[in-house]
Amino acid sequence: MRIDIVSLFPSMFEGPFDTSMLKKAKDKALVEINIHNLRDWAEDKHKTVDDRPYGGGPGMVIRVDVVQRAISNLQLSIFNKKKSKIILLSPQGKTFDQAKARELSKLEHIILLAGHYEGFDERIHEHLVDEEISIGNYVLTGGELPAMVITDAVVRLLPGVLEEEARENESFSSGENLDYPVYTRPEDFKGWKVPDILRTGDHKKITEWRAEKANKKTELKKIS
Ligand code: SAM
Repeated sequence: MRIDIVSLFPSMFEGPFDTSMLKKAKDKALVEINIHNLRDWAEDKHKTVDDRPYGGGPGMVIRVDVVQRAISNLQLSIFNKKKSKIILLSPQGKTFDQAKARELSKLEHIILLAGHYEGFDERIHEHLVDEEISIGNYVLTGGELPAMVITDAVVRLLPGVLEEEARENESFSSGENLDYPVYTRPEDFKGWKVPDILRTGDHKKITEWRAEKANKKTELKKIS
């Protein structure tokens, strides 16, 4: 899979993408992640990518012509357009979830467009992208954190990135179901004890106990 992220602040990605699972996935060539500066597609000497809104109002708006050039350029080397998606990061988009992460992980290519300031010219929403994704009903300063969230959630689902077993019972791996509770040493911390069943070695009973606890957590989350 190839992920192209277009941002006005590419340096924001340096830490998160160079550690832990994402670094390993890149090192093993399971994913190629390219961070691009939108200004590279500006045409004037000041590298302008935004302008004031028509009709007045605060802030700056990202220009449709610059984004069009970025998208066309990034799509040049993509042969299978059906397995490629252009995604606009926007608080107005559909809320991201595990099902969407799974769907995106089956693609060969994604372009994530991270906005800033007042956001994107509406014609980008209307004519240039396949979908709009929000990471929740709140407004962030830019699309960089949403791009990181989506990339992380998608890459960990790619074959070979994690052990299959690690994802088997994971929260949201089937519908809304949550993972079971886990414990490690110390066995007794300030009187907070690890449940006895987990130390019996009876795998059948442990599996049943875990399923029951996972169901209970799922139910509790639904009503909270
Ligand atoms: N004026 C816009 C509005 O009210 O809908 C908000 C623009 S926001 C300050 C700037 C950029 O941050 C957006 O273009 C988008 O790329 C990103 N962004 C902010 N919140 C987001 C969220 N919850 N999910 C995805 N992207 C978000």
